[in-house]
Amino acid sequence: MSDISADQSALVLFSGGQDSATCLAWALRRFARVETVGFSYGQRHLIELASRDALIGGMARLRPEWAARLGERHTLEIPTLAAVSETALTRDIAIEMGEGGLPNTFVPGRNLVFLTFAAALAYRRGIRHIVGGMCETDFSGYPDCRNDTIKALNVALDLGMGRAFELHTPLMWLDKAATWALAEELGGTGLVDLIVEHSHTCYLGERGARHDWGYGCGTCPACSLRARGWRAYAADQRHGMTG
Ligand code: ZN
Repeated sequence: MSDISADQSALVLFSGGQDSATCLAWALRRFARVETVGFSYGQRHLIELASRDALIGGMARLRPEWAARLGERHTLEIPTLAAVSETALTRDIAIEMGEGGLPNTFVPGRNLVFLTFAAALAYRRGIRHIVGGMCETDFSGYPDCRNDTIKALNVALDLGMGRAFELHTPLMWLDKAATWALAEELGGTGLVDLIVEHSHTCYLGERGARHDWGYGCGTCPACSLRARGWRAYAADQRHGMTG
């Protein structure tokens, strides 16, 4: 039995993407024990889940104190999510804008499901803090990424499980450039390099071409967003160095 209290423990929703990798570093700076949970639901880019080991290993090597804080890695299978979704992530169809201005990569309610499973796991593991990369700044019309949604779900989880969870979304008000800057603040350029090299964002699961912002097809909405954020971050850095 660990002597680290629930209040010093966090569970990070960790997909292996840029956002969740940054969230993992954020949690490693704050909590004495950090566990991760990834979800497998038949998504095309299982490669994103495979990125997790490389990122966790890299962070452990980057900072010895982070290595000491890293705890169990969990993976939960939620194939039902694919069965109820007809989206470009889980079926082999083109990514395009659908009804309501949402791209058809949207899996309805996905983050509600993820956070509810994460809370159930946190309950069993005696963990109070849950950390996710939801963000309403950059992307999304995704309603399940919005701050109000997360706040409401926090209340529902507390009531429904009889606990006082704290849902943390450190990226909620950041754009992608600011997320790169946060990674640098948390773990220096070593962490930025690690996330560029090993995190996976591309919707198509493409890992052939290496761009300055990492691997990906370069043209899907996720790659475009990541590339745009990287260019803004890199430009800020150049100005910072000369100015
Ligand atoms: Zn792509």
